[in-house]
Amino acid sequence: MTHEQNRPDESRAEVLESTVGEARAGHVRAPRINVASHAGRPRVVIIGGGFGGLNAARALKHAAVDVVVVDRYNHHLFQPLLYQVATAGLSPGEIASPIRWILRRLSNVQVLLADARAVDRTRRVVELDIGELSYDYLIIASGSAHAYFGHDEWAPMAPGLKTLDDALFVRRRLLMAFERAEVITDPEVRRQLLTFVIVGGGPTGVEMAGAMAELARHALVKDFRAINPRDARIVLVEGASSILTAFPPALQARAEQSLAGLGVEVRKGTLVTGVTEGAVQAGDERIDAGTVIWAAGVAASPLGRTLGAPVDRVGRVRVEPDLSVPGSPEVFVIGDLAYREQEGKPLPGVAQVAIQGGRHAAASVVRLTEHQPTQAFRYRDLGNMATIGRAAAIAEIGRMRFSGWLAWLVWLFVHIMALTGFRNRVIVLVQWAWAYITYQRGIRLITGQGTPPGSRQ
Ligand SMILES: Cc1cc2nc3c(=O)[nH]c(=O)nc-3n(C[C@H](O)[C@H](O)[C@H](O)COP(=O)(O)OP(=O)(O)OC[C@H]3O[C@@H](n4cnc5c(N)ncnc54)[C@H](O)[C@@H]3O)c2cc1C
Repeated sequence: MTHEQNRPDESRAEVLESTVGEARAGHVRAPRINVASHAGRPRVVIIGGGFGGLNAARALKHAAVDVVVVDRYNHHLFQPLLYQVATAGLSPGEIASPIRWILRRLSNVQVLLADARAVDRTRRVVELDIGELSYDYLIIASGSAHAYFGHDEWAPMAPGLKTLDDALFVRRRLLMAFERAEVITDPEVRRQLLTFVIVGGGPTGVEMAGAMAELARHALVKDFRAINPRDARIVLVEGASSILTAFPPALQARAEQSLAGLGVEVRKGTLVTGVTEGAVQAGDERIDAGTVIWAAGVAASPLGRTLGAPVDRVGRVRVEPDLSVPGSPEVFVIGDLAYREQEGKPLPGVAQVAIQGGRHAAASVVRLTEHQPTQAFRYRDLGNMATIGRAAAIAEIGRMRFSGWLAWLVWLFVHIMALTGFRNRVIVLVQWAWAYITYQRGIRLITGQGTPPGSRQ
């Protein structure tokens, strides 16, 4: 193995550091980054160590290419279980693992902790916060973030769920609301503190609402003296005429029944037009709420726009049938950041689309290195699931539609198997079994400073 440069010693690292600083300030061009490379082997840069990026890297493990995976966080996050961290059901380490560790056995893969700022397709370089990285092939899988329908000023009052920091912040907010309510004597303020509004009736909103209801009605019940946590009011607000719009109406109705059983109030066809500290304007109704959680709107990673390629309304890159960027057959965009239609409908922003897209992009890179034409991507829908709480879920797998216990067991199995690492699977299984028997949510820790983590796209 050769290196473009020798491994930097301490003084060179300092020079690099100061050059990066100057480059950030715009004084000099950013330095080229020192990455391992085999002579004659093409370099594949993958931006994002999420579902798409990781699967692309894995699919390239036997290819005669050098792979560099870049992520701004050092860990891969299993986003479907973020709501469990936010509601004190799981610890952060159980749903996240270091990307370096996940890819440690792939000898042709190097991992860089860096923030990608822009892509220069003409020069074939990615501009990172630590310098420039050249590529022969590029796979962009930098995902999405939550969006506030043009009202970014709502973000500090209505945190969303995208990162571990977001989930820990939401957990702090939820638990602090009960702590404050315990010491407040004014019944109006107490009622406000114990009112929780979740905006967005998709799977994340529904799962959050169910888990919060269980936290209030079961896990916290014996912990307080002045308040009864069961008095907590949980309101789920959805702008569309139904919740869980990706599911058939019969399953939507089952989910609503389960939510009602947990005491969650569902407001459908209700647009949120204002969020202030302590209140939400939902349609004609003003809801005084101490805690608001945002589970609506999605915006694509801003990296997509730097490509200078066509994007849709929320910034997703309109890719070719093989997931490449128009005019750049060597650049692929996958997962949440890509816009592609299949049978007249846009592909959904779900993990399977990113996973299958990552594998497809990797296969396309291999075909290009072998001077073969690429093939069109075809998404295979493996099913759709959402859980509403203890022993309640809905599932649509192929032509089968089911709900209740069975759906919940399938949901449990699929999520445990999809987690990274055997240790995490075992721990989560034990945590859930314990929670099921005892009704407890054991990770009720209040940590952090109470300031929003500052959502990044
Ligand atoms: C709360 C929540 C619950 C969900 N539940 C489900 C579910 O139940 N089922 C389901 O199928 N899907 C679910 N999803 C959607 C699913 O997680 C996404 O569709 C999937 O993660 C998309 O994969 P991706 O690889 O495109 O992006 P991601 O998995 O989001 O990965 C993007 C990666 O890129 C990195 N990154 C971003 N920008 C930069 C940058 N500029 N520089 C460097 N690195 C960068 C990020 O740190 C991240 O690691 C959920 C999403 C959320 C937020």
